Amino acid sequence: MPKERTLSIIKPDGVKNKHVGNILQRFEDAGLTIAAMKKTRLSRTEAETFYAVHRERPFFASLTGFMSSGPVVVSVLEGDGAIEKNRALMGATNPADADDGTIRKDLAESLEANTVHGSDAPETAAVEIRFFFSDKELISTI
Ligand code: ATP
Ligand code: MG
Repeated sequence: MPKERTLSIIKPDGVKNKHVGNILQRFEDAGLTIAAMKKTRLSRTEAETFYAVHRERPFFASLTGFMSSGPVVVSVLEGDGAIEKNRALMGATNPADADDGTIRKDLAESLEANTVHGSDAPETAAVEIRFFFSDKELISTI
């Protein structure tokens, strides 16, 4: 598996429900390394930019409202097959469909408030990492 980087967001429900430590432990237990991390809050405009790919979807206004409703914890995860590894830890988009033992099955509130975001491909990972972090903030091990 190639060494990769991916962007993780612990969404406002995950921070509000105090799941940050639990989720970061899952990343480390799966062999991923946290190369950068911060707690921040997205403005409505920033959330709209980040999720621009979903602009035409009926849930766009609600999603971007939710994503800007409270603080988030953003991290860059590194390791072998990091993108797929993180997506596997997250589970299906809808927590009702997620496998047992995944973050969304165990911790999510709803389809919208589904606790975590993870990049879905190397190209989107690069754009999303750049959205949140400068080179100086990224302590890379790969
Ligand atoms: P993410 O991009 O957040 O990692 P994902 O790739 O699993 O999640 P996407 O299809 O990219 O899923 O949807 C982005 C986010 O939009 C979802 O994580 C969820 O919060 C929200 N979402 C997706 N579908 C719906 C829906 N039908 N109704 C409400 N919210 C939705
Ligand atoms: Mg997505």
